[in-house]
Amino acid sequence: MTAGSVVQALYLVAGVLFVLSLAGLSRQETARRGALLGMAGMGLALAATVALSLVRSERPAGVTAGLIVLVLLVGAAVGTWRARTVEMTQMPELIALLHSFVGAAAVLVGFGSYLGSSSGPSGDAGHGGTVHLVEVFLGVLIGAVTFTGSVVAFGKLSARLRSSPLLLPGRNGLNLAALVACGGLLWWFLAAPGTGLVPLVLMTLVALALGWHLVAAIGGGDMPVVVSMLNSYSGWAAAAAGFMLGNDLLIITGALVGSSGAILSYLMCRAMNRSFVSVILGGFGAETGAAAPGGSVEQGTHRETTALEVADRLTAARSVVVVPGYGMAVAKAQYPVADLVARLTARGTTVRFGIHPVAGRLPGHMNVLLAEARVPYDQVLGMDEINDDLPGTDVVLVIGANDTVNPAAQDDPSSPIAGMPVLAVWQAREVVVFKRSMATGYAGVQNPLFFRENTAMLFGDAKEQVELIVQAL
Ligand code: NDP
Repeated sequence: MTAGSVVQALYLVAGVLFVLSLAGLSRQETARRGALLGMAGMGLALAATVALSLVRSERPAGVTAGLIVLVLLVGAAVGTWRARTVEMTQMPELIALLHSFVGAAAVLVGFGSYLGSSSGPSGDAGHGGTVHLVEVFLGVLIGAVTFTGSVVAFGKLSARLRSSPLLLPGRNGLNLAALVACGGLLWWFLAAPGTGLVPLVLMTLVALALGWHLVAAIGGGDMPVVVSMLNSYSGWAAAAAGFMLGNDLLIITGALVGSSGAILSYLMCRAMNRSFVSVILGGFGAETGAAAPGGSVEQGTHRETTALEVADRLTAARSVVVVPGYGMAVAKAQYPVADLVARLTARGTTVRFGIHPVAGRLPGHMNVLLAEARVPYDQVLGMDEINDDLPGTDVVLVIGANDTVNPAAQDDPSSPIAGMPVLAVWQAREVVVFKRSMATGYAGVQNPLFFRENTAMLFGDAKEQVELIVQAL
């Protein structure tokens, strides 16, 4: 048995571990096992790749091993430092940044593979060479779009760039023109292998601009789909790099990430009642969202309450629903919220959580926070499971959620978030909204819920207010 076939067998085992990992990650109860299987698969893949490069290396094995150890040390040090310092609220932007690395890697692998191959600038493209050239071209194209798209997503999610959509005149025409130009450049690239570097560089520039424009044109509440879409792109970029390097495991892993990202994008679109094509084409909220100030004007008078009053209402209530949102993550209120819920449950009150699919800034954001605070899984329900029960609920506590409980999504067809399914909390007997001010949520739209008769606003940091309620109870 050669070293190569041992490595292929290890790759296969790693691939199976990745599939089992994804299966585990799909449910909270098995997520920990899924993460461990993924780590084992990645460890195995790394070991096999290092072994293979030592066998194949044209340099002395010591030099190759030294280089690999150096790169691993730098990567592990930066990764450990970021993982320890990143706040939960910064996770989406970190993920967007990591996607940009995959895109950049695919571009670099593409150029490296082209310049070093026999079908490269100085070579002669036979049939196999043409296939390789197409792999290089597509890999660099997907990688470049992923790179700049992810950088813009990072900028928007970290508030370094404005989240409103960039609306260039004829933006769809511009995207189409970029794709047609890439088609023409592919033809040139294949027709003249000797001078192929020129069309490859030109296409890279067009693709970088296309990635930038595609994501810049998407704004407001559509960002969740963008994050999962870029996740998918980064998978396809990795798969393309796998084809260029002839690495089966990279192809398998890339295809897993690409297809699971695509499925997630589809689910997010369905959760937001948006069509995938309309999200990709961008300009969401163009008519009203870009003019968000108009949408953020207050629409009546609101009523304020205190932690003591809320504690009284909770004592009298028989059923309570807690609806968390991004503000709970910012305030790190999940621990006192879990404490509050445990106390109410111990008194015999029926308490459940209602989770909107795009609450927070990351798919599953709220579920992760509640799991961290050890809230029992059976108390955590999805939007579709809880919405029918809201009319019979005594008190709903909206903790740092805003867009996901906005009745304008149902009542106002001109609203930038019109059509997005929301948690109909206003149907409960009483609603208490925990936030610090009357400021709008991520989509920049004012929320008529705050001005309803059965809504009371509890201003202040969500964690402090929940702790005051727990004390009062
Ligand atoms: P929103 O972003 O709509 O609103 C969060 C609210 O939390 C704000 O109104 C803010 O009000 C309040 N808040 C912030 N800090 C605190 C604090 N310390 N204490 C109390 N309140 C606080 O949240 P939702 O979760 O309802 O909606 C998520 C939005 O993000 C949607 O528009 C979604 O499309 C978008 N999005 C979701 C992603 C995902 O994958 N889940 C990814 C990217 C975007 P105030 O400042 O007055 O305190």
